[in-house]
Amino acid sequence: MKPQTNKEVDYVIKWMSLGHCARGPKWCEKCKEAAKLKKFYILQVDYGPGEGARPTIEIIKDKKRNFVYYNVIKGFESKSEAEEYANKRGFNLLKNTTVED
Ligand SMILES: [Zn+2]
Repeated sequence: MKPQTNKEVDYVIKWMSLGHCARGPKWCEKCKEAAKLKKFYILQVDYGPGEGARPTIEIIKDKKRNFVYYNVIKGFESKSEAEEYANKRGFNLLKNTTVED
């Protein structure tokens, strides 16, 4: 079987903190700590079917709102750094996501 070569890979930059686990800061002390560390993260959007226990992000794709899984690529202190990193690697960054500028 040939791997899917034309599979879409999208990326977004989000100002966020990485959760610690699926329980979230309401229920987990370590999540509460993790929530304080916010960065600009480059995330690879994962459209695959999930197992339900992973965190999701909201993205806007084709003018539709989607909740998708993601893989964290890297965190940055500034948005411009993140954009530079993504551009250098030719990442397809989704526009008009709910990233707060
Ligand atoms: Zn946790």
